[in-house]
Amino acid sequence: MSDTAANNHPRTLFFQPGERNVFLHLLTACNLSCRHCYINPEQHGRGMLSREQMEQWLALLAAPAAEAGNVIFLGGEPTLHPDLVHGVRVARRLGYRGVTIDTNGLLPRDLLSRLAPEEAVLSFSLDGADPAGNDPLRGEGVFAAASANLQKAVAAGFDVSLIFTASRLNIAQLPQMPALLERWGCRRFFIQVIGLRGKSAETGEAGQPKAKDHNHSMARVPAAAGGAGGNLQLSPEEWLAIVPKVAADAAARGIHVIYPKVYLAPDEPFQCAGRLANNFFVFPNGRVYLCPLCEDFPLNALRIEEGRLRENPGITERGLFTLEIPEGCVMNKLLQPGNLAYLPDGRPCHRISCCLLKQEIGTSDRN
Ligand code: SF4
Ligand code: SF4
Repeated sequence: MSDTAANNHPRTLFFQPGERNVFLHLLTACNLSCRHCYINPEQHGRGMLSREQMEQWLALLAAPAAEAGNVIFLGGEPTLHPDLVHGVRVARRLGYRGVTIDTNGLLPRDLLSRLAPEEAVLSFSLDGADPAGNDPLRGEGVFAAASANLQKAVAAGFDVSLIFTASRLNIAQLPQMPALLERWGCRRFFIQVIGLRGKSAETGEAGQPKAKDHNHSMARVPAAAGGAGGNLQLSPEEWLAIVPKVAADAAARGIHVIYPKVYLAPDEPFQCAGRLANNFFVFPNGRVYLCPLCEDFPLNALRIEEGRLRENPGITERGLFTLEIPEGCVMNKLLQPGNLAYLPDGRPCHRISCCLLKQEIGTSDRN
């Protein structure tokens, strides 16, 4: 196989023991009110990390130099934090290998002029290929503002990625995205899948669950796309018929694409990131989760207290990671059983992968 052909074949990014990603929620406030927001103030408060906490927590969670990890700054909207740029520089000094800011793209506080392109990757969220597709989900005028800022960031030399959270509401627009990214010069595309957490578990006016996503993170993927979890979620057939083709189209245009694995092939091993990796989902109230699917519950294995990372006693997410079930991810089965279907003999039709397991296709110049 030629290099190009090999690059345009999806590869599963299995977890590496000890790999470390710190998802640092600086605040829970946001300047948007997306229809499928994942922020849950009941669980994570309405607070904001102070400058000193940011420094202290980044140091606390930094890996030993030999295992330098990644940090992803999140919110709410992290660009609203007055000390975001300071935090990026502290993370660099501490030796974090990758520093990413996940933003809704409105970019207040003139971020592009205060940050150098080599200091952080900027990850923009858009959920449609035009205002008619995006703005009903993310807000009036958001497509125009976010796409203009994305193009400004590309022109300024930033490493830019775009996150698209696919649901029934916008899947029809997904095939238009690769050409748009190519036109904008955006070389990274992350296709997300909508999940049912927080607000998504609530019932909307039409008697359907509201959706909720993780638009602000390249690595935080809600559980599987599923048919019975509500009308916003994609069925396995829809997901498998559309997403790999769009990813291949983007890869053929020279774009590096990451998308969730969701369904494991029969010969693929099941891996739980909670057992194998060091992923820390950190909230301003000090809760530290190892699994993003647990974030709507007080199941966090860890907490930051008095400047230390402490293990929580009692029943926590850690106990769930050890359970072996034929359906794959335990949290998916607990939270989104509608994602699962069974054969007449009782075996599951698909095993659902860890929500953090990704596939990539295309060439990555960052790897
Ligand atoms: S999804 Fe992100 S951008 Fe949208 S309201 Fe929630 S935090 Fe803000
Ligand atoms: S999503 Fe499932 S497999 Fe992944 S860390 Fe959570 S419990 Fe483990």
